[in-house]
Amino acid sequence: MKGKILDKIFSQMPASVMDVARRLKQSGYAVWLVGGAVRDHLLGVTPADWDFSTDAPPEAVLKALSPPYRMVTFGLSHGTLLAVTPDGPVEITTWAFNGQEGLRKDLERRDFTINAVAVGYPDGALLDPFGGLQDLVAGRLRGVVDPLERFREDPLRPLRAARMVSRYGFRVSPKTEAAMRQAAPWLGRAAMERIREEIWKLLSGPHVMASLDLCRRSGLMAVFLPELLEGWRKKQNHYHRHDIYRHTLLSVHYSPARLRVRLAALLHDISKPRVRQKIRGIFRFYGHEKRSAQMSSEILGRWLAPKRLTEEVVTLVANHMVHSTDAWRDGAVRRLIHRVGEPLLEDLLDLLRADRLAHGIDEPSLEAVERLRVRMRRIVEEKPPLTRQALAINGRDVMAVTGVPQGPKVGEILTEAFHMVLKDPSRNDRTFLMDWLKRRSAVQENALFETGAAR
Ligand code: ATP
Ligand code: MG
Repeated sequence: MKGKILDKIFSQMPASVMDVARRLKQSGYAVWLVGGAVRDHLLGVTPADWDFSTDAPPEAVLKALSPPYRMVTFGLSHGTLLAVTPDGPVEITTWAFNGQEGLRKDLERRDFTINAVAVGYPDGALLDPFGGLQDLVAGRLRGVVDPLERFREDPLRPLRAARMVSRYGFRVSPKTEAAMRQAAPWLGRAAMERIREEIWKLLSGPHVMASLDLCRRSGLMAVFLPELLEGWRKKQNHYHRHDIYRHTLLSVHYSPARLRVRLAALLHDISKPRVRQKIRGIFRFYGHEKRSAQMSSEILGRWLAPKRLTEEVVTLVANHMVHSTDAWRDGAVRRLIHRVGEPLLEDLLDLLRADRLAHGIDEPSLEAVERLRVRMRRIVEEKPPLTRQALAINGRDVMAVTGVPQGPKVGEILTEAFHMVLKDPSRNDRTFLMDWLKRRSAVQENALFETGAAR
């Protein structure tokens, strides 16, 4: 592929990234675009971030770029600097050697051939010493030179391979997959934050099923999600065509590519192998949604997921057993909306849909999910009180009317009122509720009086 010119890529570059390249060039150094941007451009995808490689020594890079850019230098031991631009951070790798030999060495240190292609700035000359372009065309993922060596240097790389598979649907070359199997147990040595970022990206890719199964085959899953392996070949019941493991992968696959709902799909049945019971010849999974919610919380904690995301995923998992909703009264739908919270409803519905599709039986009740979606939208638009804050009375009212002192009892009474209002929103009327409080405390006083009198 010698002589190929790829200067078109530079027209996609945001202004400040271009400015970085120009400044380095004008200082008299060679500048090459490398890594993900080249790969994505060749695949017809708009690059997300931009990495350069240059023969400028670190001091010269700093001098050329700062000011105007803030520079992050913590990667300097590997020769990398980060320029913080309005268009995002730009990674700049500096070489210890002069000439193209230095660039080659830089590319050699990268993980996969498809990430080790360089394009010269501004002429667009292509440097592809490891056949990355051919691999891109063939849809093949290969480690640079000796994959096992590459994995030894950085135990995260096998997981990066799985992430590339999820994003691009590439096939891993046999040699690289064999190296992955050998290197998988080392993943535990990588920093959890780095592992988490790769899991997030892996889950958001279109080929997530192939990727997760690669994780299982290679042994990566045994490191980051051994719980899911417990469902491998574990049969379910007549509602399901697939074993627990496969059902889970399909649920992720059928979920839209948003992290939160994909995480929920990944974890919604995670406890099933542990709660499975055979009752009169049929496997049952009583309480699995609660147990899965607990396990989800543990797993997400282990992955250092943000607290808010963890809570949301746990809520989705805990509420995924929603069935026969056509027979529900509006009050029951309002209770579900209250439990899950409005911002999570679309994710919950998408999860329900994905879960049903993943049962693999002939007639999944998808229409019922869509009817529930329409109904939830209608109910939300009616603006009924769906949270405790929307209740027309508060704790002070309860204390004033009933004489109950501050404490948990006040909350209990409010909960009672709230459930009444969820059932019938027309009762969320201050006059009605104050009256209800009065009647309620009168009844209780009588009850007390009577028990007292009976003594
Ligand atoms: P993304 O599209 O998610 O940014 P990317 O491939 O650009 O994917 P980055 O983490 O931005 O990934 O890394 C940029 C480039 O740096 C990669 O394409 C690769 O060449 C190299 N690289 C990144 N991480 C590693 C690593 N752990 N080992 C070797 N090379 C790496
Ligand atoms: Mg990148």
